[in-house]
Amino acid sequence: MSIIYEPTGKAREYSPLAANLYSGCGHKCKYCYVPNVIKLEKKIFDNQTTERNSIIENLRKDAKKLKGTNKQVLMSFTTDPYNPFNNIAKLTRKALEIFLENQIPVAILTKGGMRAIQDLDVIKKFGEHIKIGASLIYDNDIDSKRVESGAALPNERLEMLKVFFKNHIKTWVSFEPIIQPKQTLNLLKQCLEYVDEFQFGKLADDKRSFDWNNFVNTIINILRNKNKEFYIKETLRKAAYKVQLQPKEIDVDYLTLKPFEQIKETLF
Ligand code: SF4
Repeated sequence: MSIIYEPTGKAREYSPLAANLYSGCGHKCKYCYVPNVIKLEKKIFDNQTTERNSIIENLRKDAKKLKGTNKQVLMSFTTDPYNPFNNIAKLTRKALEIFLENQIPVAILTKGGMRAIQDLDVIKKFGEHIKIGASLIYDNDIDSKRVESGAALPNERLEMLKVFFKNHIKTWVSFEPIIQPKQTLNLLKQCLEYVDEFQFGKLADDKRSFDWNNFVNTIINILRNKNKEFYIKETLRKAAYKVQLQPKEIDVDYLTLKPFEQIKETLF
């Protein structure tokens, strides 16, 4: 069974490769699309996180085949690498060690907040070949507890980013799904100084009347002024169809990490 796979559709906009270590999550986000995609009852997905069968053994086999690849692997799409159960199973740490051994660049995306700090020592060993991101949806505890009851609170996610940034690890934020654009803007302003890259996407089935052109113009002006890298996902581009974006701002691979070998070649 392949653990490292090529995502398709909207997921491909995040990474050329991905790996999911767990079945279920525990962050209990009400907007989570995963139970529908993997055909698992939402109640089970939310409350019974388990290790996937022979996960580490299969991951090791896949990683060996990909050794030195120029494609980054994202953890994760159908679970969160720092879901509460990872504190016990610690699969994310084992996976990171395997990726490092096989020189595979890794992008992490989590709502686990400070839980991710437990792997700081391994993460630092990747140097420029890793980035750690937080998904930010709400800017306040009330909304976050109501909609993402098992995830770290917004301030804790921001705190996590600060810690990694201070430790010279590349940081990024996924603003997807954008549910309250004012809150997205507020969060963006709060984390600008310690986040390197940003990605924005809206709910595909969001039919609310809203001036997305104005919103996207506002965020890209902020980001361009600060020389920050960003990617606007297709769902949002379609809604903000009047906004002129540069080729790199709509290039799915522009923000992917460089392979280990390529960086060596540029050094010598
Ligand atoms: S953190 Fe991600 S995978 Fe987990 S419940 Fe929330 S949206 Fe779903």
